This record gives sequence, C-alpha cells and structure tokens, in this order.
Amino acid sequence: MKKLIAGNWKMNGGLAANDMLVKAMLDGLKGAEPAADMALCVPAPYLAQLQSLLQASPIAWGAQDVSAHEQGAYTGEVSVSMLKDFACRYAIVGHSERRQYHGETDAVVASKAQRALAAGITPIVCVGETLVERDAGQTESVVKRQLAAVIHAVAHCTSEIVVAYEPVWAIGTGKTATPEMAQAVHAVLRAQLAAATQHPQRVHILYGGSMNAANAASLLAQPDIDGGLIGGASLKAADFLQIVAAAR
Ligand code: PEP
Repeated sequence: MKKLIAGNWKMNGGLAANDMLVKAMLDGLKGAEPAADMALCVPAPYLAQLQSLLQASPIAWGAQDVSAHEQGAYTGEVSVSMLKDFACRYAIVGHSERRQYHGETDAVVASKAQRALAAGITPIVCVGETLVERDAGQTESVVKRQLAAVIHAVAHCTSEIVVAYEPVWAIGTGKTATPEMAQAVHAVLRAQLAAATQHPQRVHILYGGSMNAANAASLLAQPDIDGGLIGGASLKAADFLQIVAAAR
C-alpha cells in the first residue's frame, strides 16, 4: 500500500496564492512516478479552484470538515453532497481545532465520518490527546475512545476510513512526537482496527503534528505510520514535495 500524504491548509490561502502553490507542486511532480498518494484539504470556497487545477493530476483534493446533517436549516454548514459536486475524495473530520474551538464531540465526529462514507467520500478521522491527557497517562484511552465512536458508527465500513493520529500538543507548535512515541500510538490504533475489521492493514494511519521535510523520513519509516497529515508544511511546495519524497 502506498503511503498517503495529505495537506491541511487550515484557514489559509487566496485565489492567487493557491494557484501559485498548486502549480509549483505539480511542476515539482513532473516526470517521476509520485512516491506516495497525495491530497490537499482546502477551505471550502477553494474547492472549485482545486478541482480545476488538480483534475487529471496525481493529487486528490478534499475538505477540512463536513456537516453531520444531510441538508436544510444549518447556516454556515457544508453538506457531503456539496463536496461531491466538487468531486472531493476526502474530508477531514474531528480535527482537534474543530473539537477544541467548535465543541465537536466524539458523537458528532462519528456522524460526520458516517455521512461522508455513505456519500463515497473518505473521512480522514483525527484523534489525539492533549498535553494534559498525555501527562496524566491517558493517551491510549483518549485515542481509543475517539476512534471507537467512529468504528461504532461506520461498522462494516471501518476499513474504508483513514485515521490521523495528531497529538494536540504537536500541532502547529514545532514539537513533534518522536517516531517511537508516534509508532506506539499507531500500534494501539492498528490493534483497535484489527478488532473491528478483517483488513486493518488497508487502513492508512497518518501521523500529524509538525511533520516537516526534516523529520518526515524517520516518522514515515515506522511500521504503522502510513503517511502524514501536514499543516504548515503543506503551504510550501518544496516542503510538501520533500515529505512526499520521504514516503518512498
Ligand atoms: C494539522 O493541522 O493537521 C497539522 C498537523 O498541523 P501542523 O503540521 O502545522 O502541525
């Protein structure tokens, strides 16, 4: 299975800047078979632009969130069918910034994952502990609780999700989990998936949290790290491409 390197632009970008960034990525990929599968998860208003720039390219695109509701009176929300209109392949669900700043519970995240899968969009389900939880020895129980809610909701489709382990204390802070720390949690998640699906090896378990061109290779060399969810470094073409190359 090829590794998956997914960018999360968060609330960054603009029409002109996106055009330059994506074209620089595509230029850098010319001529060689990409070392990994790739995706860019961008703010919803730019999905049409990414669709036009990336169709017929090796980079897929997706959203950073999706509504748990089908349609109707949910001001500001974006539905799965709207994401489908722009041929999104992925939607991040349960990013820690959504859990933290928008009060998303495990149950809400699970409904979003279920809604995405039912529409044929692969949810990238984020799990991860805060520093307080890590220090209290709760890392394993927190990530297992977060993933269990999603497994319960998607049931026999568990092998179709992507999981991203993102320790909250490592996101955007420059502090990365060591490869050994990340691998230990990934192994816990793999075992949990193995109890829920016959094909746990088919599930990409990504690491996210200050992954960059310098530390990607050692993280991606771990047996249960199947790719990366990349925030800051996905805003620079050269850095993103170096991470992709490190996934070989
Ligand atoms: C993220 O937002 O998913 C992330 C991992 O961010 P960063 O790479 O900037 O830590």
